Amino acid sequence: MSKVNVDWNSLGFSYQPISQRYVANYENGKWGKGGLTDDANVVLNECAGILQYCQEVFEGLKAYKTKDGRTVTFRPDMNAKRMIDSAKRLEMPPVSEEMFMEAVDEVVRANADWIPPFETGGALYLRPYLFATGSVIGVKPADAYQFRLFGTPVGSYFKNGVKPITICVSDYDRAAPHGTGHIKAGLNYAMSLYPYILAHENGFDENMFLDSATRTYVEETGGANFLFVTKDGKLVTPKSGSILPSITRRSLVDIAKNLGMTVEERPVKLEEVGTFAECGLCGTAAVICPVGKVVDHGKEINIASGMEKMGPVLQKLYDTLRGIQLCEIEGPAGWVHEVK
Ligand SMILES: *Cc1c(COP(=O)(O)O)cnc(C)c1O
Repeated sequence: MSKVNVDWNSLGFSYQPISQRYVANYENGKWGKGGLTDDANVVLNECAGILQYCQEVFEGLKAYKTKDGRTVTFRPDMNAKRMIDSAKRLEMPPVSEEMFMEAVDEVVRANADWIPPFETGGALYLRPYLFATGSVIGVKPADAYQFRLFGTPVGSYFKNGVKPITICVSDYDRAAPHGTGHIKAGLNYAMSLYPYILAHENGFDENMFLDSATRTYVEETGGANFLFVTKDGKLVTPKSGSILPSITRRSLVDIAKNLGMTVEERPVKLEEVGTFAECGLCGTAAVICPVGKVVDHGKEINIASGMEKMGPVLQKLYDTLRGIQLCEIEGPAGWVHEVK
């Protein structure tokens, strides 16, 4: 029995401080030894680089309980590699893959009681992040950084059932060509909040961002990649240098290929969205969230799979990925990492 007092079934997606988190500091040109702490607060100098010029990158992944009681994470090495790429783009010293993986395992192990039971469909959401602690006033990279990794228990994304969402084509841009759209940085989210609130005020669940150079191609939403299924059963996913390389999307593409499906990774025109049989958003939070309707300035683009349920092809991909994550289906070697 769990020793913590949590009502697992009423968990949503919000922050709750738990017992232990991992901290490591970078000073004098090198990373110090990291370790666990029970202190959930960060004390920073008023001139810290994160507060002035926004040097910060992050990751998101989940630890789950399997039916037979094991604790697993899904492809944490991919998160480690992506955080290295993100850090380099913002002139930050990357945390090694080894330190990242060790931080994940240590935090999961130290907070074992906070991992939601298998039956609840919940998970321990893990948030690794790296930010500039050193002071900067002239514009330049800071000389000191902190890497932290905390966890917070979250409920099943589809607790109240799977409901296709309605999204709108945004008048704002998420990322510029040759900008920072392909890295996981807080700065990409800060500027997406205004269009996000606007979309909500107008009754939409999310924004569909277009490529900012021509505004004709589909990029992604604020925090999830697009998947489309053609009427003849091909999986199509937008390709662009300013889309964040979602680990969920890359895994689903591999699964689709293994299932014998044809996969096209190519630019997708807004114009062709109405021709698809299915549409979904993918990311760690939901795996796949179906989209039933896209509204382009009053013009409704109805996706054939409708507003009642996820289409059959995306459902099959969803079930396969969830099955692999929970060790009920054997996936490619190395995808599931057991925390012992
Ligand atoms: C994190 C993120 C995603 C989803 O990536 P996953 O690795 O699948 O969780 C998609 N788009 C953006 C902008 C993101 O930040």
